[in-house]
Amino acid sequence: MKPRPLHKITNRSSSITNSFVQAIIPSLEWTPEEEAEALSILDISKEDFRCAYCGNQATDWDHLRPMVKNKRPTGYINEIRNLVPSCGPCNQSKSGADWHSWMLKSKRTKNLPDLNERIDRLRKFVEWGKVEPINIQDLIDESSWKIHWSNHDAIQNQMKESQIHAARIKAAIKARLEQ
Ligand SMILES: [Zn+2]
Repeated sequence: MKPRPLHKITNRSSSITNSFVQAIIPSLEWTPEEEAEALSILDISKEDFRCAYCGNQATDWDHLRPMVKNKRPTGYINEIRNLVPSCGPCNQSKSGADWHSWMLKSKRTKNLPDLNERIDRLRKFVEWGKVEPINIQDLIDESSWKIHWSNHDAIQNQMKESQIHAARIKAAIKARLEQ
């Protein structure tokens, strides 16, 4: 039996990118009334907190429209009109995908007997939200933007180089063990 491969340093690449986006994205506070309205559109109660996608117990609030695409901010921010209750596995599986096409093809959702009702409720939620993406880049000066992404690229490159170096160390250790 082959053991599950251990982590590579570069396995962290997309979480670093997510952090670089989240670190600059603003959050809007919301009122308990707005939250109650969001949940009622989705037919979810606060006491029985269910995933808007699959119906399992929810643990997270997922950004319905992803905040990161192609390693850059999409312009959607952290606000109740872009957040739906989600279980961890749906949140991870959907990741940066469009929610509707993801629900039609994901094995977590595509065979649900109430798939169409779930999609209809999420569509109503989208209509209620009227969320438009913000052009984040236009709101700050060009040099701040460039520095932020060059910091990002420097960390990513350092991780790639570190991984190459680490792989050499691992190979050397393995060779010694096999002697
Ligand atoms: Zn789910």
